[in-house]
Amino acid sequence: MKPRLFTPGPTTVPEETLLELAKPVTYHRAAEAKAILAEVSEDLKYVFQTAQPVFTLTCSGTGGMEAAVSNTLAAGEKAILCTAGRWGERWRGILKAFAANIVTVEVPYGKAVTPEMLSQSLTANPDTKVVFTTLSETSTGVGHDLEAFGKIVAKTDSLLAVDGISGVGAMECKMDAWSLDVVVTGSQKALMMPPGLAFVSASDKAWKKIDATAPRGFYLDLRRYRKSLLESDTPFTPGNTLIKAQRVSLKKIRTEGIENLWARHTKIAIACRAGVEAMGLTVFAERPNSALTVIAVPQGVDGTAVLKTLEKKYGYKLADGQDTLKGHIWRLSHMGYMDAFDVLGALSALELVLLESGFKLEAGAGVAAFQKAYATAQ
Ligand SMILES: *Cc1c(COP(=O)(O)O)cnc(C)c1O
Repeated sequence: MKPRLFTPGPTTVPEETLLELAKPVTYHRAAEAKAILAEVSEDLKYVFQTAQPVFTLTCSGTGGMEAAVSNTLAAGEKAILCTAGRWGERWRGILKAFAANIVTVEVPYGKAVTPEMLSQSLTANPDTKVVFTTLSETSTGVGHDLEAFGKIVAKTDSLLAVDGISGVGAMECKMDAWSLDVVVTGSQKALMMPPGLAFVSASDKAWKKIDATAPRGFYLDLRRYRKSLLESDTPFTPGNTLIKAQRVSLKKIRTEGIENLWARHTKIAIACRAGVEAMGLTVFAERPNSALTVIAVPQGVDGTAVLKTLEKKYGYKLADGQDTLKGHIWRLSHMGYMDAFDVLGALSALELVLLESGFKLEAGAGVAAFQKAYATAQ
């Protein structure tokens, strides 16, 4: 059977990137390694839509999030946390570990924090140093209106730090134009790579705060990365095999063009949601993003059992809900190395499994609706 990976991280890696990963290991301080890091850093600036340097850290995405907290906040300083799910809670965990004074703006799973909620919290907390939020809340499928968040925070002295893991490279996100001060992403979501690298960039406004804040760590001290990158280097041994492979996946993004890439994700997401609804199912997120579609498990269906059958019988690996959402949602990723036909396949396999389990559904309803929506979507 052909394994098909539809989890929202890790995601499918393109063949040419896998071939790069199979090559011999090389020395990370050689001129060639520096040239590759320089190239990757340039391509990351394009993906982040920023003129600022983007740093490559050898750690998973959470390491990048930790860098965002530890570099911008001193102990006891105030942070507003806009959270809509499990990944907002990851920010909370890190903020607690670094003794931040946390003001939480929270919505139930499936909902999005609104710009008005953020605005009110900032007005009530003018001493806020950093606002933390999530671009694509991968645990619920919600996307936040970061363009609006950016406009609000830009009027204050506060910074806006964004967990863009799973969002950057899947949905529109313009770091500079939207006034995002710290943006973090990871290699294994929309950037079409195995896990192992995190990418972080900071605005001039953020750098002022970072430079005024005493270091609170060693490995993730962004000042070290800034200094090294001036010489196309890293302060510590980088995952250079991964960096070489990331170069290949980034070239793929460059070739497609970021606007075309956003449009592809949007179109697939619109069609996927139409398919889901035509199957008599509901989309879980009230403000869905284009990286993944999260489907509410219908009454009387064993959500976890359906996912097991999908994988065992047809090779489709979707993700279950996390924590309290386990068994209640199905998470179908369409970010990165995915096209309409991949997602059509996943929907048709889901239809089959539901039909076989006795769920009332017209065979092909989801697939037909996907195609209709895809044909008319811009
Ligand atoms: C996957 C994910 C993370 C966690 O990243 P790791 O690479 O597992 O550390 C954080 N935030 C979001 C939005 C994610 O999708």
